[in-house]
Amino acid sequence: MKPSLVVHGGAWDIPDEAAEACATGCKKALAAGWWVLAAGGHALDAVAAAIVVLEDDPVFDAGYGSHLNFDGHVECDAMVMDGQTLRAGAAAVLRHVKNPIRAARAILEHCPHMMLVGEGAEHFARENGVKLCKAEELVSEAEWDAWMKCKKDKHTATHHRGHEQGTVGAVAMDSEGRLFAATSTGGTCCKLPGRVGDSPLIGCGCYADAQAGGVSCTGYGEAIMKVVMAKSAVDFLQAAEAMAAAKKSVELLAARTTGTGGLILLDREGTPGWAFNTPRMAYGYVKDGELIAAVE
Ligand code: ASP
Repeated sequence: MKPSLVVHGGAWDIPDEAAEACATGCKKALAAGWWVLAAGGHALDAVAAAIVVLEDDPVFDAGYGSHLNFDGHVECDAMVMDGQTLRAGAAAVLRHVKNPIRAARAILEHCPHMMLVGEGAEHFARENGVKLCKAEELVSEAEWDAWMKCKKDKHTATHHRGHEQGTVGAVAMDSEGRLFAATSTGGTCCKLPGRVGDSPLIGCGCYADAQAGGVSCTGYGEAIMKVVMAKSAVDFLQAAEAMAAAKKSVELLAARTTGTGGLILLDREGTPGWAFNTPRMAYGYVKDGELIAAVE
């Protein structure tokens, strides 16, 4: 089986001055994931490697540099799903995990449950070898400044530099045909404490079924949840080609909600697809061994 990898760094109105950093971030994530896949490694290791790079990059809304919530704290959500077993590991409302994808992975691999939140999720992560950090270590200067402006004035996208930060995602298929999808986010800026968006919800922000394909979504979580967008995309993949299925999913989002968003996917053969109805999306994929990243 030919390995395949697709990543995204969020669908929003990424401003011109941030476009290069977002594309570069996606390329670095592709490189980390592709290094695993090209060496015959496991798709789970590939999505985890790609997501860690994106989480560590403050230009994205995941891990370090996530948007702050209404109270000025970072609260992260993440999920990873195995297309063979349909098992997921999901974690939400994490305040002390530098790489939330590692907590999600620990749940996937070691937990009898598929989703843990808050202190319980952090405790489980620590017990399973995931390093915790101080809450302040997740706060970037740019996001602190944006939050201060919102506090003094009111919450607006302009204080967040046009929402340049976006949720991150990756979908990988390895040479054994194993398919994994993953999504990680700091959620929406100035969200209420405890708010959980689509990203860690199975079928909403992420889904993988080796019989059809794997998906990671980004955009307005409350809208994406309404149409269970990731699972809808996988259902579209039963009959449509990768690009067409991605497009249909965004059309569904537009037809049934007022929110905007985007998604990346791989079909069961590893063919990448993507679509968005936000002004822009940062994404990347591998074509014949070449790493291609773009902000469109
Ligand atoms: N979907 C994410 C959420 O609502 C945000 C994003 O994609 O940027 O939490």
